[in-house]
Amino acid sequence: MKISLKHLLLAIAWLSITLTLASSLYAGYRADQQTLEKTTLETNFAYAQKLAKMTEDYLLRTETILAYSATDLSTYMNYADFKQLNYEAERLLHQTESLSSVIITDKGGIIQGASSEIRTLVGQPISDDVGIDTLTTGKPAISKPFYAQTGNLVVFISTPIQDASGHVIGLIGGSIYLKEENVLNDLLGQHFYEDGSYVYVVDEDGMLMYHLDGKRVGEYVKQNPVISELRKGHSGSMRLLNSKNQDMLAGYASIPLTRWGVVSQRPTEIALASSKVMVKEMILKSLPFILLSALIILYFASKIAKPLEKLASYATDQLERDGHATLKSGAWYHEAIQLELALTDSFSRFQDKVDHFIQESSTDALTGLLNRRALNEQARILVEQKVSFSLVILDIDRFKRVNDTYGHNMGDEVLKYLAEKLTKQTNDNGLCYRFGGEEFVILFPLIDYKQASELINEIRVDVSNEDSPIGEPITFSAGVASMPEHAEHFLRLLELADECLYQAKETGRNKVVNVNDRAITSR
Ligand code: GH3
Ligand code: MG
Ligand code: MG
Repeated sequence: MKISLKHLLLAIAWLSITLTLASSLYAGYRADQQTLEKTTLETNFAYAQKLAKMTEDYLLRTETILAYSATDLSTYMNYADFKQLNYEAERLLHQTESLSSVIITDKGGIIQGASSEIRTLVGQPISDDVGIDTLTTGKPAISKPFYAQTGNLVVFISTPIQDASGHVIGLIGGSIYLKEENVLNDLLGQHFYEDGSYVYVVDEDGMLMYHLDGKRVGEYVKQNPVISELRKGHSGSMRLLNSKNQDMLAGYASIPLTRWGVVSQRPTEIALASSKVMVKEMILKSLPFILLSALIILYFASKIAKPLEKLASYATDQLERDGHATLKSGAWYHEAIQLELALTDSFSRFQDKVDHFIQESSTDALTGLLNRRALNEQARILVEQKVSFSLVILDIDRFKRVNDTYGHNMGDEVLKYLAEKLTKQTNDNGLCYRFGGEEFVILFPLIDYKQASELINEIRVDVSNEDSPIGEPITFSAGVASMPEHAEHFLRLLELADECLYQAKETGRNKVVNVNDRAITSR
């Protein structure tokens, strides 16, 4: 059993609905993801810029505070009043609240004053790469991160102390301890999202100065496209794989003052997760519509398929009732197959009827012999195929008398009797026809007139010696002619044979006459 039209329609409709829905969901999903990605990148970029600005502002503010203090200190420095310098260092530490320690040095870089926790360093020189710039150039400076004598990873912000004539007589500077609670934590730490987003800061060499994971501070991150961009002093946003191979959406901004970079990033998966939620919601919301469509489709599919279904089942019933075997056909769904079968069936019935009519039109109803129409047709074929043949035309003698004596019905019986006799005795040699009334024709293909004359004569003898239905023998006379010996056309052949028959009648009946010897007399 193949798929039915109804199911086929349902399947096609469903397929199109599903495909349309799926493609629109997918398109919506993709568009939403693109928007989310773009928005997240923009947000992170704006956020990184804001944090970079805040950090830079803080550093500038700290430099300003240190510069103000340096002006005050220029008078104390000459007296080398350690107590006063220590006090000033301590005061600054508390004033800024964002520095981890403060030191004051003389112009040779020897620490003259320090905030309380590093006071033991007083009298020692500061690290080479910390304040040298400030002491030699006389300009404020912010160092690269470095490990200080205390073992801390620090950034050192320093400002020169100058005398009245502008000569550098020392510096004042503060440290930010990167690995401990510090101002960067305060500035940046509080802002990260709880959904996997985070911020980190790198210096110009790619060293992590601030990271959500404090343990990573001091680590160098170089194989990262964002850091490459920051090192070039660029700001922007991009999608990338981070050092842990996580897909990230990052915004980054550089801090021109220090050449540091701030990166704000969010895992792509989390950022785009809401797209999936959206798809689920869309599916849920379109569910009633889908169900309604399904019902409408079901209704119309049934409606469309019904007439064909009915026709198909009618055809099936007909076929089953008539005991027809199922035919193989090219149709591929149920109703079409059934219709095709019905059509084939009615064609074959029609053909049977046509055959029947042809049969009837070429058969004589009384004797069952072929009729004159069939004779003409057969003769045409023989002539066309150039097959030689002989034609015998025979006529019952004094048949009128039979009718008159025994009645018309008995006359019919005699006709049937002779028809049967002729058929039987000509056997495979000849084809018998009722030519009309009490006249018959026999065609003998591939038999010449002599042989044909002999064959018909034998029959004549038999018939004349055997009782017919009237209780006594009947006799007939016959004329014989052949093609192509005697005639070129069939009509001419008939004419000749008829002439011979006429001669047989004229010369006493119950005899056979052929064109050549004109008389084979009765025995
Ligand atoms: P002849 O020897 O000269 O042939 O004499 P005939 O009496 O046979 O010839 P005729 O032509 O005078 O008569 C033929 C008769 O055959 C006339 C007709 O009533 C009869 N006949 C023709 N067809 C039928 C038929 O189908 N059934 C019956 N019972 N008689 C028929
Ligand atoms: Mg006759
Ligand atoms: Mg006759």
